[in-house]
Amino acid sequence: MAIVYNFNPGPSILPKVVLSEIKKNFFNWNNSQSSILEISHRSQKFIEYTFQVEQDLRSILNIPKNYHVLFCHGGARGQFSAIPLNLKRKFTQPDYIHSGYWSLCAFQEAKKYCVPTYVSVRKVLQDKTIFIEPVKKWNISTNYTYLHYCPNETIEGIEIFEEPIFDNKIIVGDFSSTILSRKINVEKYGIIYACSQKNIGPAGITVVIVRDDLLMQPNIQSPSILNYQLLMKSNSMFNTPSVFSWYVAGLVFKWIKNLGGLSVIEKNNKKKAKLLYQYLSSTDFYKNYVISSHQSRMNVTFHLTKNELTNLFVDTAEKYKLLGLKGHSLVGGIRASIYNAMPIKGIYCLINFMKYFEEKFR
Ligand SMILES: *Cc1c(COP(=O)(O)O)cnc(C)c1O
Repeated sequence: MAIVYNFNPGPSILPKVVLSEIKKNFFNWNNSQSSILEISHRSQKFIEYTFQVEQDLRSILNIPKNYHVLFCHGGARGQFSAIPLNLKRKFTQPDYIHSGYWSLCAFQEAKKYCVPTYVSVRKVLQDKTIFIEPVKKWNISTNYTYLHYCPNETIEGIEIFEEPIFDNKIIVGDFSSTILSRKINVEKYGIIYACSQKNIGPAGITVVIVRDDLLMQPNIQSPSILNYQLLMKSNSMFNTPSVFSWYVAGLVFKWIKNLGGLSVIEKNNKKKAKLLYQYLSSTDFYKNYVISSHQSRMNVTFHLTKNELTNLFVDTAEKYKLLGLKGHSLVGGIRASIYNAMPIKGIYCLINFMKYFEEKFR
């Protein structure tokens, strides 16, 4: 089989060694005589495994002791509700930063439970370039409250590398599509959350890293499965978790550790993104509209100047085994998601294909 490169935004590419490991152990996981799909989440072996998964994540991200790690249901969108529900007793007027689609969705969901302040940090310049205000210019409220933002807007391909720090704000970040792609200072945040289907594993398990003082008792009307305290007390097994996703997340964390951790991953990611953006800026056949300081390392978006060729580009790319390149319908164009598991060879193949397509259709 020719090598296939999967550029899908999520569910997305997994490391080949992880897929092989799953295959190898599929029918008899960890000498349990059963498949990982059949095993009880309450079995001693699996419980021990989940403790190891947490330890591995803690060591990769350097998570301080005064943070809990929860493995939740409901994806990132579940957290759009869980965060205001868990924090609203203390913080009724949080700040919500708008930088793109996902941060706007989080704001809209929060409105159901509290009175968030809307703060737009995004500008579209005359030549259609998307510009993000530097953190010190964010027009935030004066309240002592939490501030929600999204460091990587998966759909538009916008990344905020600067860590927002304000005296009177607890920072809450939707790290769904950038977690584990680069180093972050966990202690600068109150809550970091991420769905699994980008850099963690298959869909189904949502990682929430929460500072202990934010494990408050939510209102009685809040759904129990979103209650951080309950989840903490039950080691994230208040109800049946997605055992398989948890298992694969553990394999991915091991893979990251074996590679040398986030410094190696970050270096690779910088190199991959740079190759692609450099190529994009060398041609006028394709165009990326994000200001260079905020170009995402994980989701590279661009348009064909001959817009009518977009579908042909996507279909032809598939014939060359480059999958999942269609942009999100909201923004159109092309999106190449180049998460941790995308090898640099995949980037070279994509660039070669883009050159070929340009020569043929310019
Ligand atoms: C994918 C994604 C989401 C949505 O995740 P679900 O698990 O489908 O709810 C939210 N925010 C960001 C930044 C994402 O990339």
